[in-house]
Amino acid sequence: DVATLARTNEIQGVAGVRNIIAVSSGKGGVGKSTTAVNLALALKRQGARVGILDADVYGPSIPLMLGVPDARPESDDGKTMSPIEAHGLKANSIGFLVAADDATIWRGPMASKALSQILRETRWGELDYLVVDLPPGTGDIQITIAQQVPTTAALVVTTPQNVALADAVKGINMFRKVNIPVLGVIENMSYHQCGACGHREALFGEGGGVRVSTEHQVPLLGQLPLDANLCRQMDRGTPTVAADPDGHIARAYLDIAARV
Ligand code: ADP
Repeated sequence: DVATLARTNEIQGVAGVRNIIAVSSGKGGVGKSTTAVNLALALKRQGARVGILDADVYGPSIPLMLGVPDARPESDDGKTMSPIEAHGLKANSIGFLVAADDATIWRGPMASKALSQILRETRWGELDYLVVDLPPGTGDIQITIAQQVPTTAALVVTTPQNVALADAVKGINMFRKVNIPVLGVIENMSYHQCGACGHREALFGEGGGVRVSTEHQVPLLGQLPLDANLCRQMDRGTPTVAADPDGHIARAYLDIAARV
């Protein structure tokens, strides 16, 4: 768990923030933001003080998933801003601050500078965890962000498809190269369970998460189903761990949070 992981990178910390957990993926659309939001809520349910920073410059989706798409962080001193509060989380997003299409054309240095600024100019207060939703991929921009943000540990989200798994391995290697400990892999869309008969089907293949986990010595922290309700809840801004706190999906996220 993060408490036992030594931090080897020596970047200036963020006052009041004890642990920064980066959520990453090799590919877009695998459920990285969904995981970041539900994990943040699950950590909160354990009694932790939790914030979430949406660093996905290419498609900031946290405002929508938290049900606050039109919120704007306020600044009374012109230098710092108050985070948005939603579902008991403190949140800030590049999506709150710039028009939807503006940030997507930023080059790496501009994007990482903007994020570094949002990270340090937000009045997070005392937080046990700040969950950071990284942009998908393992290029220069992800490395720069991961290095400018004093990351305690990282999680890699993948689907069981071979193409996604190959990119998940790239993600693991990227974090290792910059000395950020990898807490584990989360396999999303692992299977679909038929609502009528209960039959489970592995739509994107089977065993991928386990294979990456054993071949690259990282824990497989959880396997989440492809679930129509989950998708609807995220689209509506009522994330599953908050909307259905006793359901099997919330329990899976709580199990993951217990291992962070
Ligand atoms: P990423 O951050 O990797 O781009 P998102 O978390 O934004 O991915 O998810 C992409 C889309 O897939 C969203 O509409 C989300 O609601 C949906 N989604 C993610 N995980 C699941 C799942 N396990 N079951 C059903 N829909 C999902």
